[in-house]
Amino acid sequence: MPVTQLHGWGAQRRVECDERQPETASEVARAVSTDGTVGRGLGRSYGDQALNEHRRVITMTRLDRYLSFDEGTGLLRCEAGVSLGQIIRDFGPRGSFPAITPGTKFVTVGGCIANDVHGKAHHAQGTFVTCVESMQLLVADGRVVTASRSENSELFWATFGGVGLTGMVLEATLRLRKIETTYFRQRAIPTKDLSHTLEVLEEYDSKSPYSVATLNSVATGARLGEGVVNVGDHAYLDELPAKLKKHPLKLVGDSPLVVPFDLPELTLNPLTIRVVNQVITAMMKSKGEFTLYEEFFYPLDMINDWYRGYGKRGFIQYQFVVPYAAGADTVRSLMNTMMTSGQLPFLNILKRMGDANEAHLSFPMKGYTFAIDFPVRDGLVELTRELDARVADAGGRIYLGKDSFLEAAMLRRMYPRVGEWLEVKKKWDPESVFSSDLGRRLELSR
Ligand SMILES: Cc1cc2nc3c(=O)[nH]c(=O)nc-3n(C[C@H](O)[C@H](O)[C@H](O)COP(=O)(O)OP(=O)(O)OC[C@H]3O[C@@H](n4cnc5c(N)ncnc54)[C@H](O)[C@@H]3O)c2cc1C
Repeated sequence: MPVTQLHGWGAQRRVECDERQPETASEVARAVSTDGTVGRGLGRSYGDQALNEHRRVITMTRLDRYLSFDEGTGLLRCEAGVSLGQIIRDFGPRGSFPAITPGTKFVTVGGCIANDVHGKAHHAQGTFVTCVESMQLLVADGRVVTASRSENSELFWATFGGVGLTGMVLEATLRLRKIETTYFRQRAIPTKDLSHTLEVLEEYDSKSPYSVATLNSVATGARLGEGVVNVGDHAYLDELPAKLKKHPLKLVGDSPLVVPFDLPELTLNPLTIRVVNQVITAMMKSKGEFTLYEEFFYPLDMINDWYRGYGKRGFIQYQFVVPYAAGADTVRSLMNTMMTSGQLPFLNILKRMGDANEAHLSFPMKGYTFAIDFPVRDGLVELTRELDARVADAGGRIYLGKDSFLEAAMLRRMYPRVGEWLEVKKKWDPESVFSSDLGRRLELSR
């Protein structure tokens, strides 16, 4: 077996996999192994979703062709390995942009489907499924089937958030968003504590499609939850200052900045975190009124391989959502536990989410979501177990796209439709050809 060492974005587990990198749909079909296969995109999920220790991983990034584009409707048919960054590069100058985007553009269409990704505008625009009309899936018996809201609809919904375990997405038809400029009109609103942050986020729910708060992760006590709320929307051509109007659909080139190797663990300590926190908060507050998409959506993409900054043991991101009914007090008490845990909570975002959709395992639900990075240190697993139980008690759940440590029983408490999803899996993949390390950990595959 050819061996490739792979890891998720958090790099807290590195495992040997039998990786294949096909270029065509028929090569993908030939690469599927009945001993267990999982698809992989650009490896931006944080944990073990796109890992399959000692088994087959099919990396889809060479299936990166456009198949058709209708300028009038904005419908793009493309292969699943096309990345959002590629779409921006090729369609941005023509006035089209991905309709839904997560906080990095280094993700493939297949990966966005498998996690049903969400962005800063979830409360207004929903998840990735809202921009997908249909897809072609290679399923376990070797057939290629169409899945859409009207054709094989149960398979369609089970695949959004289905963490790659329903089959290989070969291609998809997406609706792009028409834009007049690649600029955003934005505002930064400093906040003094959690209640204030939540108030501002709520106020902008109806005023602004994009809104997110970045909190000072070293603020505790009365200052817990202080930070800055950034809100904004796509800028129209006629509102741009004259200087920017000259190149309204400007693109941003690849960043030359890179973290070249795993930094020593000592680099991250309470003091350096305090300093970096201040720098980040100052950056978020000081943005100009008009800013390019890169700074607005993808500030972390400016430093390549930044995960290495967390050191050899890697890091996790813990992202939960709890319903509004559970209230600000639940968010406050969970945050308080994190910030005073003796761990090193770091980069984070807080936002309000809109309604859940029909996909069995899609993460978002109406409520508050908070995502925060922790470098891996002793005691972290125990902390996440405690948080998991409290999130589930509050009627919430955690995001599988970021997860590394959740247990199978807890998944079933958080996602009450797991049973229905497993029925769909059994129907389309009775022998569990599609499996992964996450699938085994959460008892979603063999
Ligand atoms: C800096 C950063 C910011 C992020 N911000 C957000 C955010 O704001 N919102 C959000 O929702 N997520 C966010 N994420 C997570 C990221 O969007 C998701 O994990 C996404 O799924 C990664 O896509 P990928 O192409 O890298 O897929 P991978 O990580 O390689 O794989 C992810 C899943 O997709 C499956 N998969 C990939 N391709 C295929 C295919 N062709 N067929 C079948 N299955 C496939 C894999 O099996 C796996 O289950 C962020 C990640 C990073 C690193």
